[in-house]
Amino acid sequence: MAFKRMEGFVGSVPQGFIDRSLKVCPLCGSVRPHWGIDEKMQLKLEGNLYLFQCEQCKGVLSSPIPDVTGYNNTVLTTTGLLKKLSGKKNGVIYLRIYDAGSNPDLRDSVGKEFTLQELQALAAEKERPEPEGSGKFY
Ligand SMILES: [Zn+2]
Repeated sequence: MAFKRMEGFVGSVPQGFIDRSLKVCPLCGSVRPHWGIDEKMQLKLEGNLYLFQCEQCKGVLSSPIPDVTGYNNTVLTTTGLLKKLSGKKNGVIYLRIYDAGSNPDLRDSVGKEFTLQELQALAAEKERPEPEGSGKFY
């Protein structure tokens, strides 16, 4: 897969979303996830997926594209209605752990779905403060 930063107008929605929503990687706790994005086409009702990859651990989170772009905030759209019917809350963004990357303790969590809030809580718990004067410890 080719993960890349999405710049420019078309890419600004998912890039802005992930950069703003998860400033710390919930998988490895890095404060520099520098999220890369890829899209995955799939023939499922939830629609195509955005994949977000942390630059540090290579872990990947996925989210249905309509969630990210906001169409599921209303039941007036088909995907929004489906989401409602499946017992999920509209306006809540769900992300799935798609790949655990270099976090062996998360292998069992691959495929599990979390709300954005849960992931933010996880990220806060895992956050690793950067050592003094770092920036190039890789
Ligand atoms: Zn990470």
